[in-house]
Amino acid sequence: MTTTPPLLQLVKVGKSFGRFRALHEVDLDVAAGSVTCIVGPSGSGKSTLLRTVNMLEPIDEGAILFEGTMIGHRMRKNHRVPVAKSVARRQTLHFGMVFQNFNLFPNHTALDNVAIAPRLVRKLSKDAARATATRALEQVGLGDRTGHYPSELSGGQQQRVAIARALAMEPRLLLFDEPTSALDPELVGEVLGVMRELAATGSTMLVVTHELRFAADVADQVVMMDGGRIVEAGAPAEILADARTERARKFFASVT
Ligand code: ADP
Ligand code: MG
Repeated sequence: MTTTPPLLQLVKVGKSFGRFRALHEVDLDVAAGSVTCIVGPSGSGKSTLLRTVNMLEPIDEGAILFEGTMIGHRMRKNHRVPVAKSVARRQTLHFGMVFQNFNLFPNHTALDNVAIAPRLVRKLSKDAARATATRALEQVGLGDRTGHYPSELSGGQQQRVAIARALAMEPRLLLFDEPTSALDPELVGEVLGVMRELAATGSTMLVVTHELRFAADVADQVVMMDGGRIVEAGAPAEILADARTERARKFFASVT
């Protein structure tokens, strides 16, 4: 009997900044096509976790595996070779990341913002990159805004451009770091709507969010972090309705 490994697996991952431990013994399995929501108070290590998965931060302990293959692992100081290997692997993996503050280039149109990475990283021709970017913008409902500059778009539209930019890389895994936290409340729904569609069409997603309604409806698993550790993990109904720890109950009471 063979078993398929999870798409993404974190095994006892630890990460320190100087003497400060930002992640501690983090174990996490993400199945292909599943949605994992990460919740928890500010400073609990959620962004650091996404950054280690995206290989923006090397880890100090444990291992990160993609389809059973090591992509991030503990590195001794003065031994930087694995970093270069990790970067090479990242460029072939094309994880997509969406940030709180969109991070669009203000002097480029929506289309160019989305087309730049396919052209430079995926090495598509100019025409192919523009075609890919157009499709990605249509997918997030912005087929009629391709020529607009970020300043001509609402926050919700800008974040949808950022999602399109991630999609244009045809990522195996989509990472979202509080994608709606910087938005006015009336603009949150359109971004969550796009994310719901992505989830429904089988995208594998790791989402840091305070939107508990979204987590309850869409997530296959909800993970709660506190102090760099995973303190709760399970099906949304289990975690959101019946948080076992006092800490988790307090956190959910504060955000609902
Ligand atoms: P969250 O996203 O849950 O709010 P973060 O992962 O951003 O938390 O941060 C977790 C902790 O690690 C915080 O205390 C933060 O100050 C610290 N931290 C994050 N990045 C760095 C860094 N580059 N250097 C030093 N400390 C950091
Ligand atoms: Mg954060």
